[in-house]
Amino acid sequence: MQTNKNAYFDYAATTPMDPEVLEAMTPYFTEFFGNPSSVYSFASKSRSAIEKARNQVAKALNATPEEIFFTGSGTEANNWALKGTLEKLRSKGNHIITAKIEHHAILHTCEYLEKIAGAKVTYLPVDEEGRISMSELEAAMTDKTILVSIMFANNEIGTIQPVKAIGKLCRKKGVLFHTDAVQAAAQLDIDVQDLCIDMMSISAHKMYGPKGMGALYLRKGIRLENLMHGGGQEKGRRASTENTAGIVGMGFAMEKMKISLPQEKARLCALRDRLIDGVLKAVPHVKLNGAKNDERLPNNTNFSFIGVEGETLLLDLDSRGISASTGSACTSGSLDPSHVLMAIGLTHEQAHGSLRMTMGRHTTDEHVDYVLETLPGIIAKRREMSPLWEDYLANLANQKKSN
Ligand code: PLP
Repeated sequence: MQTNKNAYFDYAATTPMDPEVLEAMTPYFTEFFGNPSSVYSFASKSRSAIEKARNQVAKALNATPEEIFFTGSGTEANNWALKGTLEKLRSKGNHIITAKIEHHAILHTCEYLEKIAGAKVTYLPVDEEGRISMSELEAAMTDKTILVSIMFANNEIGTIQPVKAIGKLCRKKGVLFHTDAVQAAAQLDIDVQDLCIDMMSISAHKMYGPKGMGALYLRKGIRLENLMHGGGQEKGRRASTENTAGIVGMGFAMEKMKISLPQEKARLCALRDRLIDGVLKAVPHVKLNGAKNDERLPNNTNFSFIGVEGETLLLDLDSRGISASTGSACTSGSLDPSHVLMAIGLTHEQAHGSLRMTMGRHTTDEHVDYVLETLPGIIAKRREMSPLWEDYLANLANQKKSN
């Protein structure tokens, strides 16, 4: 149970395991440990548990069990979709379209494919709320385009893309459509058929399931080259002894998530909107990053506070028991601003002063109150000490004079 001194606001990074999910998994570590590929009847316990989980995942997405392939993570599912498509369709074309705000599991895979495998990749820009433009997507397509990979919802700013429109366009053009739904699948009702999705990556640890478990939805009839070579598991398409307990956990976590989704979505939207309104009211010179209401993940908030370093803010919040995150990523020793925040047009200063607070099953009104009581004071104090803030105020005063 969380207390105000342990206010976890980083559900987009990972979620706590649901104790019932852990309970469902445990026998498959100890009692029913048989290798699902073994022929004796004892191992059939593992096999049937895996197939039950495949059904649970498929049902949650309106897919068929044959279309679900378990992987070791969302990252692996993304790698498989991109690398497997290029290898399979290389004779047709080598052009992939993605967006500048994708997770690094997509962006770094694309960079790798450009460098190693002769791929041509178009990185679509996004508007100031983080959305791609449908006309730019259509204009980017060529007769060499084999794949469009656009994330369902962004992990930093929560913006939801026009997935159905993208799916329909891709189908019309005969181009495969993959979506990274690692964040979205935990919070939105996803029907892969209705949305015209060909491939979709999901991850269990964002939905109260185990870490190191993912899946790729592959629409019936789509053939990809394998990413993992070895045994004949997953119908010969993903080698490696199955993580039976992890698969059981993922299936059950997804089933539970789907049942509670309508209520939980409404509850989180209310918390999110209260947090956003509260911060915008209590803190001057703050910017909300990302889209509004319906086009934003129910649990996501992301702000930029001028004159404050996001990293310092995180430490201040941490000292008050609040765990949050910033858009900045520390890459090879240098603190680069978030590629997502830069893509939506923020200045370096705004991107460096960013704070992401994401909520989930255990977040309460009291946690939101606690943040609203704590955060404004921290920002005011940091600004008092900040030369950046002084410069900003001086610039503002000059601008007013010259107007
Ligand atoms: N894609 C998105 C949008 C994510 O947010 C994440 C993880 O944060 C991933 C992919 C990677 O998923 P995993 O941690 O399961 O490898």
